[in-house]
Parts: sequence; C-alpha cells; structure tokens
Amino acid sequence: MMAKKIYLCSISNVTSGACKEDCFYCTQSAKYNTNIEIYKNKSKEQVLEEAKQLAKFGASGFCLVTSGLGLDSKKCEYIATLSSFIKSALPKMLIIACCGIADRDSLKYLKENGVDSYNHNLETAESNFSNICTTHSFYDRLETCNNVLSVGLKLCSGGIYGIGESFEQRIEFLKTLKELNPHSSPINFYIPNDALPIKQPKISKDEALECIIMSREMLKDSILMLAGGREVVFENEQKKIFDYGIDAIVLGNYLTTSGDKPYKDLEMLQNYHLKIGHLIEDRQCVV
Ligand code: SF4
Repeated sequence: MMAKKIYLCSISNVTSGACKEDCFYCTQSAKYNTNIEIYKNKSKEQVLEEAKQLAKFGASGFCLVTSGLGLDSKKCEYIATLSSFIKSALPKMLIIACCGIADRDSLKYLKENGVDSYNHNLETAESNFSNICTTHSFYDRLETCNNVLSVGLKLCSGGIYGIGESFEQRIEFLKTLKELNPHSSPINFYIPNDALPIKQPKISKDEALECIIMSREMLKDSILMLAGGREVVFENEQKKIFDYGIDAIVLGNYLTTSGDKPYKDLEMLQNYHLKIGHLIEDRQCVV
C-alpha cells in the first residue's frame, strides 16, 4: 500500500495581539490579560527568512496572519507586499492570508499579488457564536468566506472545538462548512487558559478523535488540517489522527503558542511511515 501523504503548513503571525475584538478563545484579544508578545508588521525580509526555513523542512503552505477584526487598506497593502515578495523568492510555496473580515476588492488585490488561499474560520456553529464572541457576528464571518469563494481564491475555513459547544452544535457547524466546501479546513482544539473567559477542560483524546472523524465524514473533499491543540491533546499518540483522516498539520509554531520543533514532527511522520506531500505539486492548488 502506498504511504499516505501529509502536507505541512506553516504560520507567521506577522502582526500580533492588541485586537479590539472579544473572541473568548483568543489570546490576541486586548480584553484579556494573556501576556503574549505584541508587535506590528514584521519586515518582509524577516518573514521571507521564516518561510525559507520552514520550506527546508518540507512546508509547502505558508500563512500570513494578522490579528484584528479585518483587512483595512493599509493591512491589505502590507500583506500584498509580503505575499509578492515571498512568492517571487519561493514560487512553489502556497501562500495563505489570514487577516479577518475582508471585502471582495481587498481579496482580489491579494490574489493579484500572489495570495493563493484565504483563511477565515467560522469557528463554531451559528447557534453557539454569541457565546464565544459579542463584537462581530457569525454572518460577518460567513460573508467573508463567501467573498473569498466569489473572487476565486481557495477558501480555508474551519473552527475550534472544546469551547463549550454541544454535539448537535458540532454537527450544525460542520453542515454549514460543508455548504462552503472549503479547499482546506483547519481543526483547532481549545487549550485551557486561565486568562480567557472560556472555562472548559482540555478536550479528551477520544472526543477530539470523534471531531476529526465527523469532520472527515462531512468534508470529504477538503484538505483536513489539524492545527492548534495537536501536541497538547494527542501528545505522543498522534498516529490515529492520520488514520482517521487528517491530511495536514502545522509545522513549527502556532499564533501565540509553540509547536513541537519541526524535526520532531518530521521524525514522527517517518515513524508512522507517512510521506510528506506538496500542496501545489500534488493538489494542483494554484489558483
Ligand atoms: S480571533 Fe481574530 S478577531 Fe477574534 S480576538 Fe483573535 S485576533 Fe481578534
């Protein structure tokens, strides 16, 4: 049997923290005392260097992330500059932007400047959304996802589990995602943090696996990526996540938390007899 291919994505949090929104699960909200590093607009040279380092480990997706509600004109210009700079140096890197709520014109501009895919997570079911955020609505998020699709960018959209949602709300959430048919879909598991308003224990391995199985079942065509919470929830027992349908993982650090060192993840994939795939070469991700 041919070894399953796993895709490696990577993230650069190019603008971190000081967000005015109140998403209850997010350490980047200025409303909570989470003690994260706060900075604005990393230089394009620094971001390219990060991308090059991660590419050496086999990352074929690189996501430019900014904190804050959405993509205003300044932020759009900054991300476009980063994207075209990285794309010209690393043409085979799939560039993803994750900058919050965005209109069609801004998204078109990003696409013209090398962005291949836009990540905007619905996060949870519509019926649970007001329990995890009061400063913007589920519809704001849905509208951005539809804008992404309408300008021909690849949509990357998923959510976070373990934030107090019910089983039924998980199904409701996945049904909405299925309608969007995202090209890729990140799954995050909430990591308990005393500074955040969500007071839920860490999700168990079994429950987390159930979320993966349900996502696989509902999102048959999407690249299913396990992002935040992978190491914390599954620790040294990650084999099953791949057996049950995960296609991609995040290599290196997350937005405000550290992941395992890249070489450790590569060693793990090798031990599980999994091969590293390439998002553009294997999955025809060029838009
Ligand atoms: S998820 Fe985005 S919009 Fe919400 S608090 Fe975090 S950075 Fe701000």
